[in-house]
Amino acid sequence: MDQPELRSPKRRGLAGLIMRAMWRFAPKRAAAAERESREWFLICRNCGHERTYAEIGGIRYGAYSRGKRMRLRCPACGERRWHDVERRAGEDPSPN
Ligand SMILES: [Zn+2]
Repeated sequence: MDQPELRSPKRRGLAGLIMRAMWRFAPKRAAAAERESREWFLICRNCGHERTYAEIGGIRYGAYSRGKRMRLRCPACGERRWHDVERRAGEDPSPN
């Protein structure tokens, strides 16, 4: 089952390495990880800019904690700020 639209060619570094390996050896897991990464949002505390985990080239899979935050560089305000991490499950909230 090939789903090229789910792949993120922009992903680099360790996350890219992991995802490439997952796509190769465990494509179902890779698809789930991609999907889940798109359900997690990062919201800049400085300007409110929102983006998904997938957009920053990250993977978030199997993480269910809430109220997390990450310090990231925000593309909108250009500063390194705390971002709230929030999951907004899509149409298919997988119980796993
Ligand atoms: Zn910002």
